[in-house]
Amino acid sequence: MKDYRVALGKTRRWVIKVGSSLVTNQGQGLDAERLADWAAQIAAIKRAGVNDVVLVSSGAVAEGMRRLGWKKRPSAIYQLQAAAAVGQMGLVEAYERQFQTHGLHAAQVLLTHDDLADRKRYLNARSTLRELISLNVVPVVNENDTVAVDEIRFGDNDTLGALVANLLAAEVLVILTDQRGMYEQDPRQNPDAKFIDVASADEPQLEVMASGGGVGALGRGGMVTKVRAAKRAARAGAITVIASGREPNVLVRLRQGESIGTLLYPAQEPLAARKQWLAGRLQVKGRFRLDEGAVRVLRESGKSLLAVGVKDVTGDFQRGELVACDGPDGLEVARGLTNYSAAEAQRIKGCSSEKIAEVLGYVDEPELIHRDNLVVMK
Ligand code: GLU
Repeated sequence: MKDYRVALGKTRRWVIKVGSSLVTNQGQGLDAERLADWAAQIAAIKRAGVNDVVLVSSGAVAEGMRRLGWKKRPSAIYQLQAAAAVGQMGLVEAYERQFQTHGLHAAQVLLTHDDLADRKRYLNARSTLRELISLNVVPVVNENDTVAVDEIRFGDNDTLGALVANLLAAEVLVILTDQRGMYEQDPRQNPDAKFIDVASADEPQLEVMASGGGVGALGRGGMVTKVRAAKRAARAGAITVIASGREPNVLVRLRQGESIGTLLYPAQEPLAARKQWLAGRLQVKGRFRLDEGAVRVLRESGKSLLAVGVKDVTGDFQRGELVACDGPDGLEVARGLTNYSAAEAQRIKGCSSEKIAEVLGYVDEPELIHRDNLVVMK
C-alpha cells in the first residue's frame, strides 16, 4: 500500500483547521503564544515546500467575550454572534501580527456553507482564495457567524474546512483538535482500544466508531463531523489527518512524515471540480426514488438519469435545483441538478423520454438529470 505518511512530504497545498480550544485561553480570549506557535509552524511548513496554506480558525467568540468583559459564555445565539463580530477583528489582527514576524500576511475570509452551495459565489470564493495563496498570503477562514450559526451550534468548522479543501483541490486537510485522533473503541471504557493510524476515508465503520455505535465507542461530539469532513475531502482526492493540536510542532512533524494522529486517505479517484461542488452541497430540495435498473445504470455506466427509472418524487423544487436520488432501499445513490420541476417530474416519472412531450406538451431536455450535472455518491 502507498505510504501516505511519506506522501505528505511531497504535498504543496494544505488546509489546516484549528478549533477554539487550540487558540484560546480556555475560551477566554486568544492565547497569543499559541497563535504565535501556529504562525511559526505554518511559516516553517511553507518554507519546507507547502507553498499554499489556508488556515480555518475559530476563536472569534472567545476573543469577543474577552473584549466585551463577558465572563460566562452566553447561551443566546444572537449574543454569541455579537461576540463573534467583536472578536473576529481581534482574531485576524492577532494572526496578522504573528504572520508578519515571518514576512507573511493574513487575509480574513468569512464564509458560510450556503456561499459554497451557490455556484457563482463558490467560483468567486475560489478565485479570491487562489489569488491570495498565489500572493503568498495565508487566508484565515472562519464561518461568517453574523449570517450563519452552524459552527456556534455544532462546532462545524470541520465541514467548512473540507469544503475549502475541495474548493482549492487541496492535497491535505489537517483537522487539529484536543484529542489524539480516532480509536476503534472508546479508550475511556476500554484501555486496550486500538488507535487508528491509517484508514480509508470511505471505510463505512469509521462513522459508526466515531458516533459511538456499539458500546459508546469514541462518542465525543465532533468526531463524527471530522470523519464526514474527511469523506468530503477525499472526494477531491485529499488526505485528511485528525491530530492533536497539543502535540508539539505537529504540522512540521506531519510534513516530515511522522505518524501522528489518524490519517484518512482517499480510496476513490477524485471527482471533477464541478461534481465535487455538487457533492459538497448540503441542502437538497427533493428526492427521486429510483428502480433497481436506474440505480445500476447510474452506478455502472455513469449515464444520465431518465424519467423512466423514477418511481416516486418528493419535495418541492424547480428546474435547476439539487435533488437526491435514492435506491429502492432508500439509500442515496446520487444527486444532481434536475431539468424538471417537482410538479413536472410527478407527471413524467416512469415515462420513456419520447413520451415526455406527449405528457407535458413540451420537452425541456430528454434527461431528468443530465450526467454532467449528476454525481454518484460512493
Ligand atoms: N465561529 C465561531 C468562532 O470563531 C464559533 C466558535 C464557538 O462557537 O465558540 O469563535
